[in-house]
Amino acid sequence: MKTYDWIVIGGGIGGVALSYELARQGLQVLLIEQSVNLTGASRFSYGGVAYWAGTTPLTRQLGAESFTKYEQLSDELESEIQFRVLDLVMTIPVEGDVTQAAHAYAHCAAPPSVISPVIAKELEPQLNPDALGGALTCRHGHIEPMLTVEAYRRAAETLGVEVIVAKVETIKIQDGLGDRYIQGVNVHQVDYPSRNVIIAAGGLSRWLLSSVGVNLPIYFTHAELIETAPMDPCLRTLVLPAQIQRVGLETLSSRPEFEHFWDQPGHEPMPSILDPGGIQFCNGRLLLGQISSTLTDPQANLNPSTGEMAIRTAIGEILPALKDVAGTWHRCLVAFSRDQLPLVGKVPGYEGLHVFSGFSNPLTLIPPVAQRFAAHVARTTDDLIVQLHPGR
Ligand SMILES: Cc1cc2nc3c(=O)[nH]c(=O)nc-3n(C[C@H](O)[C@H](O)[C@H](O)COP(=O)(O)OP(=O)(O)OC[C@H]3O[C@@H](n4cnc5c(N)ncnc54)[C@H](O)[C@@H]3O)c2cc1C
Repeated sequence: MKTYDWIVIGGGIGGVALSYELARQGLQVLLIEQSVNLTGASRFSYGGVAYWAGTTPLTRQLGAESFTKYEQLSDELESEIQFRVLDLVMTIPVEGDVTQAAHAYAHCAAPPSVISPVIAKELEPQLNPDALGGALTCRHGHIEPMLTVEAYRRAAETLGVEVIVAKVETIKIQDGLGDRYIQGVNVHQVDYPSRNVIIAAGGLSRWLLSSVGVNLPIYFTHAELIETAPMDPCLRTLVLPAQIQRVGLETLSSRPEFEHFWDQPGHEPMPSILDPGGIQFCNGRLLLGQISSTLTDPQANLNPSTGEMAIRTAIGEILPALKDVAGTWHRCLVAFSRDQLPLVGKVPGYEGLHVFSGFSNPLTLIPPVAQRFAAHVARTTDDLIVQLHPGR
């Protein structure tokens, strides 16, 4: 049976970008995705590319590389990903502190500007200025994530990547002296041998890692949102709160004292939060969200009608005309790490086992990190990739 150089588990934007970049390095790649139609976070993403938001030399460099990569990615992949630059409007409630909200972005590569509620409404006519104490704005990248996943996957297949639709149940490992050695994966009782296996399974990465006894600081939120069918143009901008509560939720729920909760279902380290926002894609599809919760069971029961009502109520405050728009409630898992940097690289103690997940600012970072990671494993060590090592 054929032995692959790499098996990539997960066909969201992380897995497809990685498969494509590994194949560009001349490696034999098998990509395994469990669902025919995407169901992970890439399927329900707003598509925002915050190339301007880097706050360290590392994230600023990746932000700049990301913008350059996206500008030509449709041509490179020979498929349209609808990359554009639009206005991001970040809302600050009437009772909010505008100066403090702006200060939180002061160290970004291109900090957003403070604007009045009146100017915010000029940028986004759907906004209710009476609900705002102010807003922040900047130019923001945007892609259609589903088209981008499809474009990467097709380009990967053109380069010889094999794709199968199946759920990976078992990662095959052999015990050696000191390290444990990856042999491949088993799917539906068929072995697929490989020298390397990389887990790009989004919110399920933690589950897959723990299935082979690996405990890494990688976590997930349950996201809830509303999606509409394509409709007439209504939203011009991407709308988000300036103080994104999800960031605090991730920081607090991944504190070391909560670590043991994440290894069993039935816990919720921190209460859920709601960040009201929305985006309309080029084809008219609208996404409105977003609830994030830290239930530790990936299959936890969520109440669709409660979630939908909460989102509609919050959207009604800032974007009143969209409160009752016809749409369908959806859920998915979103991975995150403890320190806002992704876990990318070899799992300590496991020869041939790697991880590529837990991205904050994922759509910005994934394309340049996938490209660099592939060159790092195929050619020369990349110090930037070393900084993302899971054992850091
Ligand atoms: C409402 C919402 C809005 C968002 N907006 C933005 C935004 O504007 N900008 C931004 O940067 N990010 C945004 N995100 C986050 C971002 O979209 C995700 O973090 C990113 O798409 C994750 O990609 P991924 O490939 O790592 O994971 P996923 O897209 O979740 O893909 C993982 C894949 O692995 C597969 N898988 C899992 N286990 C197995 C297995 N055992 N066998 C086979 N396959 C398996 C799953 O089926 C899934 O398709 C948003 C997320 C949500 C929910």
